[in-house]
Amino acid sequence: MILLDGKKTAEQIQGEIAQVVQQRKSSGKKIPHLAAVLVGDNPASKTYVTSKVKTCEKVGFNSSLVQLASDITQSELIDQVIRLNSNPDIDGYIVQLPLPKHISERKIIEAIHPSKDVDGFHPVNVGKMALNLPGFISATPFGILQLIKRYKIPTEGKHCVVIGRSNIVGSPMSILMARNEYPGNCTVTLCHSRSKNLPEITRSADILIAAIGKTDFVTADMVKEGVVVIDVGINRVSSTETKSGYKLKGDVKFDEVSGKCAYITPVPGGVGPMTITALLQNTLLATEQLHD
Ligand code: NAD
Repeated sequence: MILLDGKKTAEQIQGEIAQVVQQRKSSGKKIPHLAAVLVGDNPASKTYVTSKVKTCEKVGFNSSLVQLASDITQSELIDQVIRLNSNPDIDGYIVQLPLPKHISERKIIEAIHPSKDVDGFHPVNVGKMALNLPGFISATPFGILQLIKRYKIPTEGKHCVVIGRSNIVGSPMSILMARNEYPGNCTVTLCHSRSKNLPEITRSADILIAAIGKTDFVTADMVKEGVVVIDVGINRVSSTETKSGYKLKGDVKFDEVSGKCAYITPVPGGVGPMTITALLQNTLLATEQLHD
Protein backbone atom coordinates (compact mmCIF):
# COMPACT_ATOMS: atom_id res chain seq x y z
CA MET A 1 0.00 0.00 0.00
CA ILE A 2 1.27 3.44 -0.92
CA LEU A 3 0.10 6.41 1.11
CA LEU A 4 -0.95 9.35 -1.05
CA ASP A 5 0.81 12.02 0.96
CA GLY A 6 -1.20 15.17 0.32
CA LYS A 7 0.78 17.18 2.83
CA LYS A 8 4.13 16.47 1.15
CA THR A 9 2.73 16.90 -2.38
CA ALA A 10 1.04 20.16 -1.38
CA GLU A 11 4.34 21.45 0.04
CA GLN A 12 6.12 20.59 -3.22
CA ILE A 13 3.53 22.46 -5.29
CA GLN A 14 3.56 25.39 -2.86
CA GLY A 15 7.36 25.54 -3.28
CA GLU A 16 6.86 25.75 -7.05
CA ILE A 17 4.26 28.52 -6.63
CA ALA A 18 6.61 30.45 -4.29
CA GLN A 19 9.29 30.34 -7.02
CA VAL A 20 6.86 31.72 -9.60
CA VAL A 21 5.88 34.51 -7.17
CA GLN A 22 9.57 35.32 -6.66
CA GLN A 23 10.10 35.51 -10.43
CA ARG A 24 7.03 37.73 -10.78
CA LYS A 25 8.41 40.02 -8.07
CA SER A 26 11.81 40.36 -9.71
CA SER A 27 10.28 41.12 -13.10
CA GLY A 28 7.90 43.72 -11.63
CA LYS A 29 4.73 41.73 -12.29
CA LYS A 30 1.70 41.84 -10.03
CA ILE A 31 1.83 39.72 -6.88
CA PRO A 32 -1.26 37.49 -6.60
CA HIS A 33 -3.78 38.70 -4.05
CA LEU A 34 -6.44 36.36 -2.64
CA ALA A 35 -9.27 37.65 -0.47
CA ALA A 36 -11.44 35.48 1.74
CA VAL A 37 -14.85 36.53 2.97
CA LEU A 38 -15.95 35.02 6.26
CA VAL A 39 -19.50 35.60 7.47
CA GLY A 40 -20.19 34.86 11.13
CA ASP A 41 -18.08 32.80 13.52
CA ASN A 42 -18.56 29.15 12.55
CA PRO A 43 -15.41 27.55 14.09
CA ALA A 44 -14.76 25.14 11.19
CA SER A 45 -15.13 27.95 8.62
CA LYS A 46 -12.80 30.14 10.69
CA THR A 47 -10.18 27.37 10.77
CA TYR A 48 -10.41 26.83 6.98
CA VAL A 49 -10.18 30.54 6.18
CA THR A 50 -7.27 31.15 8.57
CA SER A 51 -5.38 28.27 7.06
CA LYS A 52 -6.01 29.58 3.51
CA VAL A 53 -4.75 33.05 4.46
CA LYS A 54 -1.66 31.59 6.20
CA THR A 55 -0.79 29.47 3.16
CA CYS A 56 -1.05 32.58 0.95
CA GLU A 57 1.56 34.27 3.11
CA LYS A 58 3.78 31.18 2.93
CA VAL A 59 4.00 31.33 -0.88
CA GLY A 60 4.39 35.12 -1.00
CA PHE A 61 0.84 36.04 -2.07
CA ASN A 62 -0.93 39.03 -0.63
CA SER A 63 -4.08 38.11 1.24
CA SER A 64 -7.04 39.86 2.83
CA LEU A 65 -9.61 38.58 5.24
CA VAL A 66 -12.99 40.26 5.05
CA GLN A 67 -14.80 39.40 8.30
CA LEU A 68 -18.51 40.13 8.42
CA ALA A 69 -21.13 39.77 11.14
CA SER A 70 -23.55 36.83 10.92
CA ASP A 71 -26.52 39.20 10.77
CA ILE A 72 -25.34 40.91 7.58
CA THR A 73 -28.18 41.08 5.04
CA GLN A 74 -28.02 39.39 1.68
CA SER A 75 -27.94 42.71 -0.17
CA GLU A 76 -25.11 44.02 2.04
CA LEU A 77 -23.12 40.87 1.28
CA ILE A 78 -23.82 41.27 -2.44
CA ASP A 79 -22.49 44.86 -2.15
CA GLN A 80 -19.27 43.46 -0.63
CA VAL A 81 -18.98 40.98 -3.48
CA ILE A 82 -19.49 43.75 -6.04
CA ARG A 83 -16.75 45.79 -4.34
CA LEU A 84 -14.36 42.83 -4.58
CA ASN A 85 -15.29 42.34 -8.26
CA SER A 86 -14.25 45.90 -9.05
CA ASN A 87 -11.18 46.10 -6.78
CA PRO A 88 -8.22 45.89 -9.22
CA ASP A 89 -5.84 44.72 -6.50
CA ILE A 90 -7.86 41.58 -5.69
CA ASP A 91 -7.20 38.88 -8.29
CA GLY A 92 -9.39 36.18 -6.81
CA TYR A 93 -11.59 35.68 -3.79
CA ILE A 94 -13.69 33.15 -2.02
CA VAL A 95 -16.81 33.45 0.08
CA GLN A 96 -16.48 30.74 2.70
CA LEU A 97 -19.50 28.42 2.83
CA PRO A 98 -21.82 27.64 4.53
CA LEU A 99 -23.49 31.04 4.83
CA PRO A 100 -26.12 31.89 7.46
CA LYS A 101 -29.56 30.50 6.60
CA HIS A 102 -31.08 33.89 5.66
CA ILE A 103 -28.61 34.29 2.77
CA SER A 104 -28.97 32.44 -0.52
CA GLU A 105 -25.60 30.86 -1.35
CA ARG A 106 -26.67 30.59 -4.98
CA LYS A 107 -27.34 34.34 -5.23
CA ILE A 108 -23.94 35.14 -3.68
CA ILE A 109 -22.05 32.73 -5.91
CA GLU A 110 -23.80 34.13 -8.97
CA ALA A 111 -22.71 37.66 -7.96
CA ILE A 112 -19.00 36.71 -7.98
CA HIS A 113 -17.33 37.68 -11.24
CA PRO A 114 -16.30 34.43 -12.99
CA SER A 115 -12.78 35.82 -13.65
CA LYS A 116 -12.22 36.11 -9.87
CA ASP A 117 -14.13 32.97 -8.85
CA VAL A 118 -11.09 30.96 -7.72
CA ASP A 119 -13.33 28.47 -5.87
CA GLY A 120 -14.79 27.56 -9.28
CA PHE A 121 -18.39 27.56 -7.98
CA HIS A 122 -19.90 30.09 -10.42
CA PRO A 123 -22.18 28.45 -13.04
CA VAL A 124 -19.93 29.83 -15.81
CA ASN A 125 -16.90 28.02 -14.38
CA VAL A 126 -18.87 24.84 -13.67
CA GLY A 127 -20.10 24.91 -17.29
CA LYS A 128 -16.56 25.43 -18.60
CA MET A 129 -15.34 22.54 -16.48
CA ALA A 130 -18.11 20.30 -17.88
CA LEU A 131 -17.21 21.30 -21.45
CA ASN A 132 -13.46 20.97 -20.81
CA LEU A 133 -12.86 24.64 -21.57
CA PRO A 134 -10.24 26.70 -19.67
CA GLY A 135 -11.68 28.09 -16.42
CA PHE A 136 -11.45 27.50 -12.69
CA ILE A 137 -11.98 23.94 -11.48
CA SER A 138 -13.24 23.87 -7.91
CA ALA A 139 -10.39 23.42 -5.48
CA THR A 140 -11.09 19.97 -3.98
CA PRO A 141 -11.54 18.11 -7.31
CA PHE A 142 -8.60 20.07 -8.80
CA GLY A 143 -6.42 19.06 -5.84
CA ILE A 144 -7.44 15.41 -6.18
CA LEU A 145 -6.56 15.41 -9.90
CA GLN A 146 -3.11 16.74 -9.08
CA LEU A 147 -2.53 14.16 -6.38
CA ILE A 148 -3.39 11.40 -8.87
CA LYS A 149 -1.10 13.03 -11.45
CA ARG A 150 1.89 13.50 -9.13
CA TYR A 151 1.71 9.84 -8.10
CA LYS A 152 1.28 8.85 -11.78
CA ILE A 153 -1.71 6.65 -10.97
CA PRO A 154 -3.10 5.07 -14.17
CA THR A 155 -6.72 6.08 -14.79
CA GLU A 156 -7.47 5.22 -18.44
CA GLY A 157 -10.19 2.58 -18.79
CA LYS A 158 -10.53 2.20 -15.01
CA HIS A 159 -13.83 2.04 -13.21
CA CYS A 160 -14.02 5.10 -10.96
CA VAL A 161 -16.79 5.11 -8.37
CA VAL A 162 -17.58 8.44 -6.72
CA ILE A 163 -19.79 8.42 -3.61
CA GLY A 164 -21.50 11.78 -3.07
CA ARG A 165 -23.04 14.17 -5.61
CA SER A 166 -22.43 17.60 -4.06
CA ASN A 167 -21.81 20.55 -6.36
CA ILE A 168 -18.39 21.17 -4.85
CA VAL A 169 -16.92 17.64 -4.75
CA GLY A 170 -18.83 14.59 -5.98
CA SER A 171 -20.49 15.91 -9.14
CA PRO A 172 -17.46 17.77 -10.57
CA MET A 173 -15.22 14.82 -9.64
CA SER A 174 -17.40 12.45 -11.65
CA ILE A 175 -17.25 14.76 -14.70
CA LEU A 176 -13.48 15.26 -14.45
CA MET A 177 -12.68 11.55 -14.12
CA ALA A 178 -14.63 10.88 -17.33
CA ARG A 179 -12.88 13.59 -19.41
CA ASN A 180 -10.87 12.57 -22.43
CA GLU A 181 -7.46 13.32 -20.90
CA TYR A 182 -5.17 12.30 -18.04
CA PRO A 183 -6.21 12.02 -15.22
CA GLY A 184 -9.51 10.83 -16.63
CA ASN A 185 -10.75 8.49 -19.31
CA CYS A 186 -12.42 6.45 -16.59
CA THR A 187 -15.77 4.73 -16.73
CA VAL A 188 -17.50 6.61 -13.94
CA THR A 189 -20.33 5.62 -11.59
CA LEU A 190 -21.73 8.37 -9.38
CA CYS A 191 -23.41 7.04 -6.23
CA HIS A 192 -25.49 8.99 -3.71
CA SER A 193 -27.91 8.60 -0.83
CA ARG A 194 -30.56 6.95 -3.05
CA SER A 195 -28.18 4.46 -4.70
CA LYS A 196 -29.08 0.80 -4.26
CA ASN A 197 -26.60 -2.03 -3.74
CA LEU A 198 -23.79 0.39 -2.91
CA PRO A 199 -21.28 -2.25 -1.67
CA GLU A 200 -21.77 -4.20 -4.90
CA ILE A 201 -20.93 -1.11 -6.94
CA THR A 202 -17.99 0.00 -4.79
CA ARG A 203 -16.48 -3.52 -4.90
CA SER A 204 -16.11 -3.12 -8.65
CA ALA A 205 -14.21 0.18 -8.30
CA ASP A 206 -10.59 0.45 -9.42
CA ILE A 207 -10.64 4.01 -8.06
CA LEU A 208 -13.00 4.91 -5.21
CA ILE A 209 -13.59 8.54 -4.27
CA ALA A 210 -15.58 8.98 -1.06
CA ALA A 211 -17.18 12.41 -0.43
CA ILE A 212 -20.06 11.64 1.91
CA GLY A 213 -19.39 13.29 5.27
CA LYS A 214 -19.96 10.13 7.35
CA THR A 215 -17.18 8.77 9.54
CA ASP A 216 -15.91 5.27 8.65
CA PHE A 217 -18.66 4.81 6.03
CA VAL A 218 -16.50 2.76 3.63
CA THR A 219 -15.49 -0.55 5.19
CA ALA A 220 -13.13 -3.31 3.99
CA ASP A 221 -15.96 -5.48 2.64
CA MET A 222 -16.89 -2.63 0.25
CA VAL A 223 -13.60 -2.58 -1.69
CA LYS A 224 -11.58 -4.99 -3.79
CA GLU A 225 -7.87 -5.77 -3.50
CA GLY A 226 -5.67 -3.23 -5.29
CA VAL A 227 -8.16 -0.36 -5.22
CA VAL A 228 -7.08 3.29 -5.19
CA VAL A 229 -8.99 5.12 -2.43
CA ILE A 230 -9.37 8.89 -2.22
CA ASP A 231 -11.01 9.87 1.07
CA VAL A 232 -12.44 13.40 0.87
CA GLY A 233 -14.34 13.25 4.16
CA ILE A 234 -13.44 15.57 7.01
CA ASN A 235 -15.47 14.58 10.04
CA ARG A 236 -14.92 15.93 13.53
CA VAL A 237 -15.21 13.21 16.17
CA SER A 238 -14.79 13.96 19.86
CA SER A 239 -11.54 12.78 21.39
CA THR A 240 -9.88 12.93 24.77
CA GLU A 241 -6.45 12.57 23.14
CA THR A 242 -6.33 16.06 21.64
CA LYS A 243 -6.25 19.56 23.14
CA SER A 244 -9.08 20.71 20.89
CA GLY A 245 -11.29 17.87 22.15
CA TYR A 246 -11.84 16.47 18.65
CA LYS A 247 -10.07 14.47 15.97
CA LEU A 248 -10.49 14.59 12.19
CA LYS A 249 -11.60 11.35 10.56
CA GLY A 250 -12.39 10.46 6.98
CA ASP A 251 -15.30 8.69 5.31
CA VAL A 252 -13.18 5.55 4.97
CA LYS A 253 -12.39 3.16 7.80
CA PHE A 254 -8.67 3.55 7.18
CA ASP A 255 -7.36 0.80 9.50
CA GLU A 256 -9.24 -2.00 7.78
CA VAL A 257 -9.47 -0.62 4.22
CA SER A 258 -5.84 0.45 3.75
CA GLY A 259 -4.60 -3.16 3.82
CA LYS A 260 -6.48 -3.86 0.57
CA CYS A 261 -5.41 -0.69 -1.24
CA ALA A 262 -2.76 -0.01 -3.87
CA TYR A 263 -2.96 3.66 -2.85
CA ILE A 264 -4.94 5.52 -0.20
CA THR A 265 -5.14 9.08 1.14
CA PRO A 266 -4.91 9.58 4.92
CA VAL A 267 -7.20 11.95 6.86
CA PRO A 268 -5.84 14.40 7.82
CA GLY A 269 -2.93 14.98 5.43
CA GLY A 270 -4.52 13.75 2.19
CA VAL A 271 -7.05 15.74 0.20
CA GLY A 272 -7.24 18.70 2.63
CA PRO A 273 -3.79 20.23 1.96
CA MET A 274 -4.23 19.62 -1.78
CA THR A 275 -7.47 21.64 -1.72
CA ILE A 276 -5.78 24.72 -0.27
CA THR A 277 -2.93 24.41 -2.76
CA ALA A 278 -5.37 24.14 -5.67
CA LEU A 279 -6.96 27.38 -4.50
CA LEU A 280 -3.55 29.07 -4.65
CA GLN A 281 -2.98 27.69 -8.16
CA ASN A 282 -6.35 29.09 -9.26
CA THR A 283 -5.42 32.48 -7.75
CA LEU A 284 -2.10 32.50 -9.61
CA LEU A 285 -3.98 31.67 -12.81
CA ALA A 286 -6.44 34.51 -12.12
CA THR A 287 -3.55 36.95 -11.66
CA GLU A 288 -1.92 35.83 -14.91
CA GLN A 289 -5.21 36.14 -16.80
CA LEU A 290 -6.05 39.58 -15.38
CA HIS A 291 -2.61 41.20 -15.46
CA ASP A 292 -0.08 39.49 -17.76
P1 NAD B 1 -22.55 17.05 1.09
O1 NAD B 1 -23.18 16.84 2.42
O2 NAD B 1 -22.91 18.22 0.28
O3 NAD B 1 -22.81 15.75 0.20
C1 NAD B 1 -22.75 14.46 0.72
C2 NAD B 1 -23.14 13.50 -0.34
O4 NAD B 1 -23.08 12.18 0.21
C3 NAD B 1 -24.56 13.71 -0.89
O5 NAD B 1 -24.48 13.90 -2.29
C4 NAD B 1 -25.30 12.44 -0.53
O6 NAD B 1 -26.14 11.98 -1.59
C5 NAD B 1 -24.18 11.45 -0.28
N1 NAD B 1 -24.60 10.47 0.75
C6 NAD B 1 -25.07 10.72 1.99
N2 NAD B 1 -25.40 9.57 2.60
C7 NAD B 1 -25.13 8.58 1.72
C8 NAD B 1 -25.28 7.17 1.77
N3 NAD B 1 -25.74 6.56 2.85
N4 NAD B 1 -24.91 6.46 0.68
C9 NAD B 1 -24.42 7.08 -0.42
N5 NAD B 1 -24.25 8.41 -0.51
C10 NAD B 1 -24.61 9.15 0.55
O7 NAD B 1 -20.98 16.96 1.36
P2 NAD B 1 -19.69 17.56 0.58
O8 NAD B 1 -19.69 19.03 0.72
O9 NAD B 1 -19.52 16.94 -0.75
O10 NAD B 1 -18.58 16.99 1.56
C11 NAD B 1 -18.41 15.60 1.79
C12 NAD B 1 -17.32 15.40 2.80
O11 NAD B 1 -16.10 15.94 2.28
C13 NAD B 1 -17.53 16.14 4.12
O12 NAD B 1 -16.99 15.36 5.16
C14 NAD B 1 -16.75 17.41 3.97
O13 NAD B 1 -16.32 17.94 5.21
C15 NAD B 1 -15.58 16.92 3.17
N6 NAD B 1 -14.90 17.93 2.36
C16 NAD B 1 -13.57 17.92 2.39
C17 NAD B 1 -12.84 18.80 1.62
C18 NAD B 1 -11.36 18.75 1.67
O14 NAD B 1 -10.71 19.68 1.29
N7 NAD B 1 -10.78 17.63 2.10
C19 NAD B 1 -13.51 19.73 0.83
C20 NAD B 1 -14.89 19.70 0.77
C21 NAD B 1 -15.59 18.77 1.55
